[in-house]
Amino acid sequence: MRGIGIPQVARHLGFLVGESPSSFTVAPCPACGVDRRHPNRRDRRGAIGVRRSAPYGFRCFACHESGDALHFVSLATVRRKFGGLSSAGVREVREVCLRILGEPLESLPRREVAAAPRYPGTGEVHRLWGEASSVTSDAEARAYLKDRHLDADHIAELDLARVVPRDARWQPTWAQMPGGRSWSASGYRLLLPLVDATGTMRSILARSLHSDRGPKSLAASGFERRGLVLACPQARAMLGGGVPGRLVVAEGELDLLTAATEPAADWSSLGVLTGSWSPELSSRIPRGSVVVIATDLDPAGERFAAQICEGLGVRARAGELRVERWRGGR
Ligand SMILES: [Zn+2]
Repeated sequence: MRGIGIPQVARHLGFLVGESPSSFTVAPCPACGVDRRHPNRRDRRGAIGVRRSAPYGFRCFACHESGDALHFVSLATVRRKFGGLSSAGVREVREVCLRILGEPLESLPRREVAAAPRYPGTGEVHRLWGEASSVTSDAEARAYLKDRHLDADHIAELDLARVVPRDARWQPTWAQMPGGRSWSASGYRLLLPLVDATGTMRSILARSLHSDRGPKSLAASGFERRGLVLACPQARAMLGGGVPGRLVVAEGELDLLTAATEPAADWSSLGVLTGSWSPELSSRIPRGSVVVIATDLDPAGERFAAQICEGLGVRARAGELRVERWRGGR
């Protein structure tokens, strides 16, 4: 929707759209209802101006409301801003958007909007995960986890990670180092599922069992990791439409494993990586949840925390979620 011009959307919704060489005018304003740019009735220009060079945003000269096509539809349909709508409001706005998107659109090109991230094929992701072994079956993985105060049995029980054997019979072509060596042959044998905002496994992260050389972990070669997070089973269920709860957001795979296997854990755990957090993720956390941001207390961790807080800000201000910062200690 954000790539569609305001004039097209306004016309679809029955607003008056005027044109001049440099701009479009739209009346009335979906926010304040004023239909003239100035109180002077002889001013024929509509309340809203849309520049021809950038028709994807609107601004009302009377009330100064501004936004994109989604915002316009939301104001015109339910008289409220899209962020902070109830789920019934979102459904109503979504239906109008789908009708607009389903129609052939004339006159203005659609803006190039960021393409959906490219993830590896689902079949290969599931096959690699399915053929991997329990972390309890691999002496090297057990020792690696033990050194980091992680309980392999608990990790296996929750199925948070698996191990690809050193002599794996099959690995997808994306399970390789930049130089072409396979993950298993390079020691990147500890696998963790990467899930999307609905809690569905879309890719796999491979962590090296040799901490001394190279990057600590690798994502699927040639594919994106954007929008994907690490998650314990309960967190995946929450994102999939589950019940609200306490959700701890940790940084990286080891902190995720630590948070998820904490003996007294009465929370669900997410693990974020660079580029993980997305607006979709912010919107999928069930209403009524408490989000505890437990990223590291260093500059990088604070950047993650700030990004997550910003993403959840609208929902927190609307009283849908509570956001807390974990300042250490239990
Ligand atoms: Zn207005």
